[in-house]
Amino acid sequence: MGSLNPQESNINSSPTDMPSALDPVEFRRQGHMMVDFIADYYQNIEKYPVLSQVEPGYLRKCLPESAPANPEPIESILQDVQNHIVPGLTHWQSPSFFAYFASNVSIAGFLGELLCTGFNVVGFSWVSSPAVTELESIVMDWLGNLLTLPKSFLFSGNGGGVIHGSTCEAIICTMVAARDQMLRQIGLDNMQKLVVYGSDQTHSALQKACQIVGINPNNFRVIKTTKSTSFALSPECLKLAISSDVEAGLVPLFLCATVGTTATAAVDPLDSLCQVAKYYGIWVHVDAAYAGSACICPEFRHFIDGVEGANSFSLNAHKWLFTALDCCCVWVKDPSTFTSSLSTNPEFLRNKATDSKQVVDYKDWQIALSRRFRAMKLWLVLKSYGSVNLRNFLRSHVKMATLFEELVSMDRRFEVVVPRVFSLVCFRVSPSAAIIISDDEINVENRIDKVNRKLLEGINASGHAFMTHAVVGGMYVIRCAIGVTLTEEKHIAMAWKLVQEHADAILMKNNI
Ligand code: PLP
Repeated sequence: MGSLNPQESNINSSPTDMPSALDPVEFRRQGHMMVDFIADYYQNIEKYPVLSQVEPGYLRKCLPESAPANPEPIESILQDVQNHIVPGLTHWQSPSFFAYFASNVSIAGFLGELLCTGFNVVGFSWVSSPAVTELESIVMDWLGNLLTLPKSFLFSGNGGGVIHGSTCEAIICTMVAARDQMLRQIGLDNMQKLVVYGSDQTHSALQKACQIVGINPNNFRVIKTTKSTSFALSPECLKLAISSDVEAGLVPLFLCATVGTTATAAVDPLDSLCQVAKYYGIWVHVDAAYAGSACICPEFRHFIDGVEGANSFSLNAHKWLFTALDCCCVWVKDPSTFTSSLSTNPEFLRNKATDSKQVVDYKDWQIALSRRFRAMKLWLVLKSYGSVNLRNFLRSHVKMATLFEELVSMDRRFEVVVPRVFSLVCFRVSPSAAIIISDDEINVENRIDKVNRKLLEGINASGHAFMTHAVVGGMYVIRCAIGVTLTEEKHIAMAWKLVQEHADAILMKNNI
């Protein structure tokens, strides 16, 4: 409207001729088409190469230089999606996606997202949409109970839960809360003395949080782990690092312990770590982004034993709890630490409910003001599947990982690098199979890594599966992370056959 561009056919149309951008009849028609499109996508997903095969910049060559002036029908837009967007997707919901950690979804997770977007309400404070806040508090208690988190983390104790967009955000908010709590005791002038601890397996989210929160870069301690502890953080090493900092006049502030590290799914021993932290008055955040979901199964719950000693705990329901991106569930024992650091009370948001102090205003538990109705999708997931099915879905992934691990162990050319705990198998072509022609130690390791790198490249270039790698204890390892909703045992068998075929070619030719 109002444009002088002669190519615009609607140039003379008046506002009354304009189609409604939210006409319910048209919404129903296009919505049905979209659901059909997505259902067809899932039905055909195995036809696409799992890892996108496009070259950088491919999309600019396909699309016009500027946005259209005139409307285009949904039919032709969907055709564009099929022709130009789908080839540039790496198919995270493909049953042969074994890379990173899955970001799995389900019918309930998808439909919950649809409802969230359909209502499109903004629940920054209780009054801005009471159901958003109240449902979030309820589902966070429900999920906390499924995890048998100590009552002190739940609203029904004196704690509480909130849904953030990501673990990065969860760590930033908890670190800010810890920082301010500490600075209130020791004075703002001591900011540069605060020290943060993690291990060399902790997710880079911790480093990012330190950068944003203003931790002195010299005071970020990355404690080394070793294969002898399956790459878990040793409480003794933590204690040594802390006592040396205390001796140097620094102030230990924050420890991020991980249950299910990104490289190998290692589990830091929460109980002993929390005891060390308690002695020095350090805030402990437990990052269980991936593996936390599995802890709703009684047989895996012991991996978070000791969480009662932590201050905060988070998991990504969008990784392994069938809830579409984004849904990071965060619990804190003392919500006032969040609100003390994150509250703002501008006049335009003032209301009776807030003044009464009887309600939760989630804007004060997160970075942004605006917030989506994420609880809706978690609620749908919990209701649609019930804890019985959710536990069985998780168990089926672990069972498939056990199967993959067995297949690797049966082939003498391969080794499982660390014992599998959840649904991640870390493996590599073993040193003995990598046909060693050099007796120089460094070259031997290089050669093994080269064989494995080439193997992974071959697997991924085939388009039939997608796995990623990690480097732990100086070893290049291939990660097979199982967690996609559509994955079945036949896909595990196919993936292993693919690995073997590519290994045959590489090891036989010896052409590294
Ligand atoms: N922590 C762990 C253990 C992870 O594996 C990941 C991502 O895979 C993250 C944190 C980062 O999560 P987010 O992308 O939600 O910030």
